[in-house]
Amino acid sequence: MIKTRFAPSPTGYLHVGGARTALYSYLFARQQKGHFVVRIEDTDLERSTVEFMKGQLADLKWLGFQYQEGIDPDTLEDVGPNRPYKQSERLAIYREYADKLLKEGRAYYCFLTDEEISVQREAAIKASRPPQVNSPYRDMPLAEAEKKIAAGEKAVVRFKVPDLTREYSFIDLVRGEVKFPSDMVGDFVCLRSGGMPVYNFCCVIDDALMQMTHVFRAEEHLSNTLRQMMLYEALGFKLPQFAHLSIILGADKQKLSKRHGATSVNEYKENGFLPEAMCNFLALLGWSSPKGQEVLSMDELIEQFSTDRLNSAAAVFDEVKLKWVNAQHLRALPHAELWSRLAPFFAQAGLKMPTDADWQDRSLSVFKTSMETLKDAVELYRPLSTDALVIHDEAKETLGWPTSKAVITEWKNQIASQKEDYLSEAQFLAVQDAVKAACGVKGKELFMPIRVAVVGKPHGAELKILIPLLNKKIILERADIVLARI
Ligand code: GLU
Repeated sequence: MIKTRFAPSPTGYLHVGGARTALYSYLFARQQKGHFVVRIEDTDLERSTVEFMKGQLADLKWLGFQYQEGIDPDTLEDVGPNRPYKQSERLAIYREYADKLLKEGRAYYCFLTDEEISVQREAAIKASRPPQVNSPYRDMPLAEAEKKIAAGEKAVVRFKVPDLTREYSFIDLVRGEVKFPSDMVGDFVCLRSGGMPVYNFCCVIDDALMQMTHVFRAEEHLSNTLRQMMLYEALGFKLPQFAHLSIILGADKQKLSKRHGATSVNEYKENGFLPEAMCNFLALLGWSSPKGQEVLSMDELIEQFSTDRLNSAAAVFDEVKLKWVNAQHLRALPHAELWSRLAPFFAQAGLKMPTDADWQDRSLSVFKTSMETLKDAVELYRPLSTDALVIHDEAKETLGWPTSKAVITEWKNQIASQKEDYLSEAQFLAVQDAVKAACGVKGKELFMPIRVAVVGKPHGAELKILIPLLNKKIILERADIVLARI
């Protein structure tokens, strides 16, 4: 069975680059009817937090990725046969494999101190040699090293690179044959002196024990892959297939970072992007649809995804395109569904919206083409909030004009005489004409007081769009509030 995984370190929020890695892993597993696993790589105890883990799991859930094994985003419980899925809870497993390597002479206890290592490094750099550790403990008999440890000395477990002259290569699903020059890495640490494993070591053990067949990860891990290949070999594990995904750049062609604005999935969620649009957009950062589609549903992504269309060139994160993709998904949603996605944004902005489904449907037909994100709806709908009208300072001048009171009074009378709860655009224009005739005013002296009576300020959205969405009762209440101020 095909198995993929996403293995985030909970040292920050879920970054869009991480989300793309998770997405490809998920799409591939779904398409191949395999399993997708989420494993938490939290061996960096200083930087890992439970809050970050919860946040990342919640973001993965929001994006719509279901997984067969991993940590449940709601209960935080381990689910699946290879539990636990948090590396900090798997230390005994890593110890067992470190002992195996030690016993077989494929790893050794190294007692070099940090200072000794930096002296070696500096000397190597000066002599233009690769900065690799040359440990005098490489061939120390295990029993002797164990005695030193029993006596309280501190040691790391260092992997003994079997053959420094050998060239390693593998076939990457994105970049084809990848060759590592010999001499690229020296003996490297597997377990730190406190017993904490380093990433390369626990990653290999977990990927092997959890039977991963395909590993998707960022390009920056390529150099780790060499160390991992050595470990796979030494431990007698089968190598999975690797896909090292291209780097993501900002619009200025620099590596995407905070400087470019939002980079965490959560920020996009809060800014009103839809998870299906996020997945669509992220999928196209380094992959393209064989049908040339730019707008794809999750089902279409699952159906069309293939590793042979992964692009090794850097991808550019284009916010304008993301907004466009979001707008396409947003406008395609059934109105009831779109409304339920908008509701939290209205609530957060303190807007009170009519609960009548027909009204909601009608309003969306008017406004959705002006929205690119859910958040855009807040300003569009603000004038329709059913709470009391707020009269803005900028309305003062208009209300001070000698004809304004008459205009608003006539406006109110005309509205009161309408039979239906809602006016059509034509009815509104007719009312406006009637006010004009009755008060003998035109131009801004006519339009601006009416606008203040409806939205509390003399400028803003077009009344012919708003009025058909405002209940007659509300229009009258608002006119009263304004008249009480004159
Ligand atoms: N924890 C690693 C990271 O977040 C995972 C790398 C991998 O997928 O092997 O970059």
